[in-house]
Amino acid sequence: MNDAAQSPKATFKRVMLKISGEALMGDQGFGLHPPTVQRIAQEVKSVHDMGVEICMVIGGGNIFRGLAGSAQGMERTTADYMGMLATVMNALAMQSALEAIGVYTRVISAIRMDEVAEPYIRRRAVRHLEKKRVCIFAAGTGNPYFTTDTAATLRANEMTCEAIFKGTKVDGVYDKDPKKFDDATRYDTITYDDVLQQHLGVMDASAIALARDNNLPIIVFSLDEPGGFRGILAGEGTYTKVHG
Ligand code: UDP
Repeated sequence: MNDAAQSPKATFKRVMLKISGEALMGDQGFGLHPPTVQRIAQEVKSVHDMGVEICMVIGGGNIFRGLAGSAQGMERTTADYMGMLATVMNALAMQSALEAIGVYTRVISAIRMDEVAEPYIRRRAVRHLEKKRVCIFAAGTGNPYFTTDTAATLRANEMTCEAIFKGTKVDGVYDKDPKKFDDATRYDTITYDDVLQQHLGVMDASAIALARDNNLPIIVFSLDEPGGFRGILAGEGTYTKVHG
């Protein structure tokens, strides 16, 4: 029996997984922590084994953020391109970790670098998904002044994903920081407008607005919880659903 046959039926057919670059750095405070990358790759594989088509966007904040660069006197657009290049490094690290465990992938870059990654061609990316290749979308939107949250929402819409899974350090959206306040409460569901009005920091405002305008649900869950991603796809676990 193959892995898909042993798996519970998934509640989604095609999803976007968005993780920040910082999710890959472990406790190091900077850069890539290979065991952490490998652990997340296993989480992705376990969902892939259910037959779910998976898109991924990984941020670059563990290496470089445009805003931080421009705060130190660097020209903003240049700094943003450096941030986009950082996301390509993270995408390649994830590709390597996934392929080491037998999951076929494509890194698809919004900035052409043909020796390293495929250029973004929507129909080709859709075909990869149909062939069960994990598509890792790199270099953000290819434009400065955007973030990878917006890139994830854009690509999720283009790839007709049914939801964006935003992997974080906590198991959903809280009314205040649960790491600082014991009485913080988690929302099971919350509207896009409430997230925006209450500045809840799920994703940046442009990403939330783009998801809202296209009615694309955002599922916020903990990536630190082993099996959490797969559990939610199987209809279990705790998370917050951001919806219209
Ligand atoms: N970035 C950009 N355009 C995009 C996506 C990303 O200019 O479409 C740059 C921006 O400088 C950003 C950096 O890439 O700070 C890294 O992305 P992000 O901050 O979203 O990473 P994360 O916080 O998710 O790790």
